[in-house]
Amino acid sequence: MPKMGNATAKAALGRSTWHFLHTMTLRFPDQPTKLESETLRTFFLNFAQLYPCGECAHHFQQLLKELPPQVGSRKSASLWLCALHNEVNKSLGKDEFPCDQLDSTYDCGCGDDPNAAKNATSTAP
Ligand code: FAD
Repeated sequence: MPKMGNATAKAALGRSTWHFLHTMTLRFPDQPTKLESETLRTFFLNFAQLYPCGECAHHFQQLLKELPPQVGSRKSASLWLCALHNEVNKSLGKDEFPCDQLDSTYDCGCGDDPNAAKNATSTAP
């Protein structure tokens, strides 16, 4: 017998995933290298294929076609993701989030880690 969906678990997965994604784009460099930009673009394209909620993944893939990842800077990436999340919010009847409040809402708790960008693209173990 097919397993029933669980709206509570789906919402909890969504909340924690959004938290991670927004925190990640807000830690993206102001002036990324080509490799960093390409890594972020590829991340989102792969993420959209692998997100565990199939309906959500399909929705996200459609949104990516309309609003392709903006990977030129921290500002463009974080505002792009905010707009995308707002599109999901709209489709679910949720309020629009004010994107000028991103910086005051998300804190990775990692301080000013000077190696954040380097670690993100390093191939070292
Ligand atoms: P969430 O939308 O999870 O947001 C969590 C918190 O983030 C909010 O409380 C607010 O503080 C902040 N926030 C809200 N909007 C923004 C924004 N624009 N920018 C920055 N911060 C913001 N659920 C479905 O039922 N159908 C779907 O198709 C679907 N697609 C999804 C696609 C993705 C990629 C993800 C990650 C989740 C998806 N979800 C989907 C889950 C859904 O988006 C919510 O996560 C879930 O419904 C819980 O909603 P919430 O009200 O707790 O707030």
